[in-house]
Amino acid sequence: MPSNKAQIIPSPHPPIPASQGPQAGDNLASFLLRNPNNVPSTKPAYIRLDGHALTRGDLFSLSSRLAWALRSLLKLEVGSRVAIFSPNSTWYPVAVHANLSAGVTSVTLSPAYGAEELVHPLWDSKPEYIFVAPGLEGVVREGMKRAGLPTTHPGSGRPTLYLLSDSDAHSTGPNGELDVRTLIDEAGSNTLAPIPLEDASQVDSFICYSSGTSGKPKGVQLSHANHIWMAVQMPLARFGDYQHEDTALAVLPFQHIFALFHLIIADIWYGVTVVVLPRFDFTQFLAAIQRYRIARIEIVPPICVLLAKSPLVEEYDLSSLKILLCGAAPLSAELGDAVERRLRARGGDVRLCQGYGLSETAPSVSAGRAALYREIKGSIGTLFPNLEARLVDESGMDVGHEQGTQGKPGELWVRGPTIMRGYLNRPDATREAIDEDGWFKTGDVAIAPESGVSDPKFKGKGHGEHFWIVDRLKELIKYKGFQVAPAELEALLLSHPSVGDAAVIGIHSEAEATELPLAFIVPSPSWSGGDEQTLADEVRKWVDGRVAGHKRLRGGVRVRKVIPVSPSGKILRRVLRDEIAQETTAKG
Ligand code: AMP
Repeated sequence: MPSNKAQIIPSPHPPIPASQGPQAGDNLASFLLRNPNNVPSTKPAYIRLDGHALTRGDLFSLSSRLAWALRSLLKLEVGSRVAIFSPNSTWYPVAVHANLSAGVTSVTLSPAYGAEELVHPLWDSKPEYIFVAPGLEGVVREGMKRAGLPTTHPGSGRPTLYLLSDSDAHSTGPNGELDVRTLIDEAGSNTLAPIPLEDASQVDSFICYSSGTSGKPKGVQLSHANHIWMAVQMPLARFGDYQHEDTALAVLPFQHIFALFHLIIADIWYGVTVVVLPRFDFTQFLAAIQRYRIARIEIVPPICVLLAKSPLVEEYDLSSLKILLCGAAPLSAELGDAVERRLRARGGDVRLCQGYGLSETAPSVSAGRAALYREIKGSIGTLFPNLEARLVDESGMDVGHEQGTQGKPGELWVRGPTIMRGYLNRPDATREAIDEDGWFKTGDVAIAPESGVSDPKFKGKGHGEHFWIVDRLKELIKYKGFQVAPAELEALLLSHPSVGDAAVIGIHSEAEATELPLAFIVPSPSWSGGDEQTLADEVRKWVDGRVAGHKRLRGGVRVRKVIPVSPSGKILRRVLRDEIAQETTAKG
């Protein structure tokens, strides 16, 4: 058997020296206060849609008072956890920055979750307090009850639930829940400077839930050091003449690492102002770009479809846009091109860049210009500095290992200072994901052709520098950039009395530029029998009524006699995917 030799693909960017990364005692919050662009404290950090602004001074002052309250009143310590369960608001960053300063880990939970979906992350991460948006108290209380979390903190004797509202006045919840601002009021003029951390790589800044390569969602532990490195690497992804004087728009949910890092960490580091949309509404999105002369937006492919096709686009002046950074799911070259051409034809100089990454990589691995250049169309760009990659085929051999194999597909493995610490409470899954040499296995299949790029500006040396994602090995489904874990839906399906076996896969929708979850079910012996379509419809309705919007079975439910499995009992999703592909081809 030929022995494997790692074929390491380096980043084309010069390495960033350790002196620019985390220093002794650094905390992500103290790092952010260094303010490299000398942005004045009077500059708005976050702007609400009605124009109300929270300046950088407000952000730092409110978060340092809240940080004092977290330590002194709520009795939290370095490594304690506080969950945030809220849609986007200008107060979300205040909570995040307070937690960072206090050395407290933020567990960011999808505001789309129902009580049942909250049970696992709450039980797993056991946050000592939860900051919740008004209106979501009932859901979170139910989730807490089922996860066995107390409503009074044993150390402080205070309630464990606080409201994080975005209104001018303090909010009060139906069960007397108090606004986070009451803690700030109580802190008065007491403030807490960011707590120095002995080792920033050993303290979690965030825990975000991701299913990884298989199974149910797991808590991705990201450290303060991961994000300090990410912040110093990121300027490379902000191509062109993008300046810190520019304004960004927060349209993706802060709970997901893509928005969390860019809009709550990186933009404070650079001094960029962020306009905050509470949720996605295309008209509001376009109006905000026009009103605030937005220059940069993090988007996902389904927003590209709207930008490429919606007639509403014609009604707004979008010429202020400089960068659209599309990530979280695959963007086709055609769609990228269509967006860039349409927007450029209407004035301005927008560039569409595609970023690639995962919650586990804090988040970015690579980024690059997505359109216009024929040679790099559809590419996810080049590796960020200080990252290395390998492409490993099914037999465990690095592709490009032998002459003539360059450009062949392989699983993308990455190594560098932005890789997560591990999965919370899951040393087994962590060991599976990160090998003893520090290589993180992404579960995505990529190619890096050596001679794919003819433009000398982009030409790689030796191995190609530009990567393309061509397949996904892992089970994960992405609906509009949101994670859907097949295992979670399969477990739910199996709890339906008429379902004996189940498998869920993602099918691609060209029209919406997304995957849609599709379920295959085998009727159980207790099924009363009858029409299979009726059963499929009933099961779909039943599931859709129990899960967050993005997990609904939009791809449909199909009844089968048997679910194909491997000799070891693993669902053969590839067989099911191929069947659907053949059907689509046959339909023409
Ligand atoms: P998440 O942890 O939610 O960010 O999901 C990470 C996964 O999203 C990756 O492993 C990919 O499967 C997918 N993904 C993210 N960005 C891209 C991209 N630009 N192209 C293709 N897939 C992507």
